[in-house]
Amino acid sequence: MGWTKWVWRSCIHPLRSANVWKIISGCCATDLKLQQCGINIVSRCRFCLTCAEDELHLFWQCPVSRSLWTWILNIFGFHTSNQSISFQSLATNKSPAVKDTWAAAFAYIITEIWHIRNACTFDNRSINLENIKRKIMMNFQETSILLKSCMHNKIEDLIIFSSLKMSSRPVHHRRIFECYWIPPRENQIKICCDGCSKGNPSFSGAGIVIRNHMGNTLAAMSIRLRICTNFVAEILAIILGMEWAFDQGWSNVWIASDSMAAIRCFTANKIPWFIRSRWNNIKNSLSSSFSFVNRECNFAADTMSKRGTSLQLGCRDFFDHKPSFLSVENPDTVYYRFS
Ligand SMILES: [Zn+2]
Repeated sequence: MGWTKWVWRSCIHPLRSANVWKIISGCCATDLKLQQCGINIVSRCRFCLTCAEDELHLFWQCPVSRSLWTWILNIFGFHTSNQSISFQSLATNKSPAVKDTWAAAFAYIITEIWHIRNACTFDNRSINLENIKRKIMMNFQETSILLKSCMHNKIEDLIIFSSLKMSSRPVHHRRIFECYWIPPRENQIKICCDGCSKGNPSFSGAGIVIRNHMGNTLAAMSIRLRICTNFVAEILAIILGMEWAFDQGWSNVWIASDSMAAIRCFTANKIPWFIRSRWNNIKNSLSSSFSFVNRECNFAADTMSKRGTSLQLGCRDFFDHKPSFLSVENPDTVYYRFS
């Protein structure tokens, strides 16, 4: 269920995340767990005093726990009718700040239930729901300090933060950038490169599209790579494109990639060891320049690299023309990047 990402967030104190982790992992010594360990005890829920105590009952089914869940669900405006709710999915499509706060709320409720249960067991405390809610509400002050994500510019977000007595969060405004595919100079070829890894690291592919100053596609390649990371795939795509240019006798090349890290390796002459000898073989024969391009205007190489991941290991598809399935960037078209 992806609990790691759900629990370990910067807006939740690590100590609390660790407690949630233990509870979710089934480390709590509930009566059922003790009985399973061979300890002969009578099991009774400390809250309702009617049912046997196991994790399912204690955290989800007991009337006390359910009233706490209902209370917090109402604050967030989430509606669910059954117990098999997926707490992560409830915050889908919500703002990052609401998602983080919801994860924190989940952590506060589940840890508080366990703390109260222990207080009832070992200190003979009685249940006071209003006190528990007050304590949980105080915890949101901690979230208010730790929370760094942005909210949506919506009333419902404001209502949630106001109900939790948290200050409102900044709103992220989406910015739109224009980007263009620029053709190379007349005596130059442009090698558009892209690498992709399906699982980072997993099956990978490299895509290369080579075009001239008229924008015509001289060649396109899809290459299946071994299991590697996105970064390695990006680096290999660049070196494969340059090796192709070297073999064809091209000496003036412009390499474009949407990986800033890969481009920096070449511009700063910090070539990774696994391609250093290949680079040394060709670097003096090529007059090369490197540019980072946005992926919105590097989609042809992206298509070829994704195609590469579905090939047999070690295979490469080579075209000395623009393949029919490939749509390439138009120099006269404006492409947009949203951030
Ligand atoms: Zn109970």
